[in-house]
Amino acid sequence: MIEEKGLLTSVELVEEVSHEGIAVNISGCHGFCQMGPLVRFEPSGLLYCKVKEEDAEEIVNTTVLNNGIVERLLYEDPNTGEKIKTQDENPFYKRQERVTLRYCGRIDPDDIYDYIAHRGYRAISKILQEMNPEEVIKEVNDSGLRGRGGGGFPTGRKWSFAASQPGPKKYIICNGDEGDPGAFMDRSVMEGNPHSVLEGMMIAGYAIGANEGYIYARAEYPLAIKRMRKAIADAEAHGLLGNNILGSDFNFKINIKEGAGAFVCGEETALIASIEGERGMPRPRPPFPAVKGLWGCPTIINNVETLANLRYIINNGAGEFKKYGTAGSSGTKTFALAGQVQNTGLVEVPMGVTLREVVFDIGGGLRDGKKYKSVQIGGPSGGCLTEDKLDLPLDYDELMKVGAMIGSGGLVVMGDDTCMVETAKFFMGFVQNESCGKCVPCREGTKQLLALLTKITEGKGTEADLDLLEELAQNVKDGSLCGLGKTAPNPVLTTLRYFRDEYIAHVRDKK
Ligand code: SF4
Repeated sequence: MIEEKGLLTSVELVEEVSHEGIAVNISGCHGFCQMGPLVRFEPSGLLYCKVKEEDAEEIVNTTVLNNGIVERLLYEDPNTGEKIKTQDENPFYKRQERVTLRYCGRIDPDDIYDYIAHRGYRAISKILQEMNPEEVIKEVNDSGLRGRGGGGFPTGRKWSFAASQPGPKKYIICNGDEGDPGAFMDRSVMEGNPHSVLEGMMIAGYAIGANEGYIYARAEYPLAIKRMRKAIADAEAHGLLGNNILGSDFNFKINIKEGAGAFVCGEETALIASIEGERGMPRPRPPFPAVKGLWGCPTIINNVETLANLRYIINNGAGEFKKYGTAGSSGTKTFALAGQVQNTGLVEVPMGVTLREVVFDIGGGLRDGKKYKSVQIGGPSGGCLTEDKLDLPLDYDELMKVGAMIGSGGLVVMGDDTCMVETAKFFMGFVQNESCGKCVPCREGTKQLLALLTKITEGKGTEADLDLLEELAQNVKDGSLCGLGKTAPNPVLTTLRYFRDEYIAHVRDKK
């Protein structure tokens, strides 16, 4: 399996080995971004890193024809210097549990038969033959699955609201907007295993009585959109989408809507407005989309990762799913691990693992001899976690207690030379730019917060400004209409809480 990245196309390797009767496939992302492009051999799991086109001949001569190993392409553990041969032995993968990402990097995303060969469309087949919609909702409820897009609302409960609504027309929307800086979980799933998303939408559609779905994906994800379009066309051609799916009376069709990249369109009501052709601005709730959503019809919006979990739950049962995670947060979560850490990339771990395990065991610790200072979790809506939170279990409820949130899963690791006031300013600049301007607390408040942070970082602030900053941040949080404004002050509030000394140093020393 060859990861499709700019540095290496499969063409070179395919040309080298095709005459040997060996299959070479393109796959989605393996997740180990720091070391890509990667080449993985099946079934041994041998993994080559940072492979270039000019390595193709040597790989073929040494490994394909003579079963040898190209030592220089093996991953070298930065902490021990040990050369690691297989993916399973690699510390980046060893501690992961892959449910959503299980087949990303292992199957050809453009080949529906490859998906089917890996138990694809078995879950939809099972529910159409054996389960009624109430049983599907109960199974998902029993699994404890919570929305992976940020809110963490129980998925089964959300579905039951829409299922109980009368009316012939309901919708499922797959939220693939993913606007957090540094987050690429949803993109990876859409690029690496698009059929798992379609199958999840079909399961959700069957459960609530919807016969139509939309995938809302940002236009900056052209490969993801291309693969989703191909997956839809292939599923339709094989009777897996459309009318009378697999000979049942269940009909379901899926459309794709390309978003223009506004962060606020990740918010459910703004996303709906955007699909309807309106400007992407949030609407007051209630009514909630589950009652009155797209074109006034009951609508369920689940994000890509949530939907991609469903086939596992249906195939294996709620009990198996609950074996991962904690009592209140079952299953696994994907995180985009970035920043000043040795191993960056996409990781999937059971809910409840500690931040220390993610940053040090999987991430390999800090780069360039830096010391750990903080992690920004959950993107601009999240918060900063200090060293004393390294043993905090990563789940919805534990993070809430310390003023942070999982969000969609961005994890930016910062070393001891990072200025936390500058970090807060960066995120405030982002949300200020992305504020849709509909309500005053967010539109004007984020502007004033950014102005105050700029004043402080330029050495022109006073201690009174810190109190003002805190008060204003709280007002924006309390008074804003949607999640964007309500969570925008989180980076300011958490850095003020945990790194106040840095703010004080800026205003006292005028640095
Ligand atoms: Fe728009 Fe911000 Fe108000 Fe949300 S909180 S509606 S993004 S102005």
